[in-house]
Amino acid sequence: MRKPIIAGNWKMNNTIEQSKRLVKELIPLIKDAKVDVVLCPSYLSLQEVKNLVKDTSVKVGAQNMHFEKSGAYTGEVSGEMLKELEIEYVIIGHSERRQYFNETDETVNRKVKKALELNLIPIICVGETLEEREQGKARSIVTSQVEAALKDLSNKEIAQLVIAYEPIWAIGTGKTASSQDANEVCSWIRDKVNQLADVHVAQNIRIQYGGSVKPNNIKELMEQPHIDGALVGGASLKVDQFSAIVNY
Ligand code: PGA
Repeated sequence: MRKPIIAGNWKMNNTIEQSKRLVKELIPLIKDAKVDVVLCPSYLSLQEVKNLVKDTSVKVGAQNMHFEKSGAYTGEVSGEMLKELEIEYVIIGHSERRQYFNETDETVNRKVKKALELNLIPIICVGETLEEREQGKARSIVTSQVEAALKDLSNKEIAQLVIAYEPIWAIGTGKTASSQDANEVCSWIRDKVNQLADVHVAQNIRIQYGGSVKPNNIKELMEQPHIDGALVGGASLKVDQFSAIVNY
């Protein structure tokens, strides 16, 4: 049985003080959570958030990392730096990184390898644009992103990671993929993992859905057999909404 995993991607929101306030309010509301909960604040707030969740089961993740250990990469943060904070997860290849920051399938793969080497669990994001969906290319786009992200990984490595299916047209737009459509794509992702790794890995890997997840659609999404959680953007910034999603 796959344990569901619900992650909040705060994106470029919340100062350190706002982050602290949000986490303090959130903790009592999700103390009985039956799912794995991961909070992904900005780099600046990682340390404070990590301190605040110390005695809880809540885990912390970064929203990105560089694949190099150190060097002349102005403005970047390495996995080694994240590791020192003892955080557990890192989102890799979010569509906003692909769209605005030149993230490619190749850099995603390099980052995934580096994260695994450091024992950080990657949450790898994949998803198609509206145009690609309308042209009937969703399956080929998403599965090729998965294949590229997992290139040269061993069975054991693939078994560690989380994949998030996030149709780009559903992110921040209020449009959710229907739960059946989301489930179908997650099943294609699982099939692809089955080609790249053994059947147990494919059966056990956790696949999240992301894109306008809200308290009113989480239950139906989570009832789908191939959806094992959610990557939540906008609604993760509101304590009442995120706690309702976690406690769906
Ligand atoms: P959203 O974002 O929930 O605001 O649509 C999801 C994401 O980008 O991870």
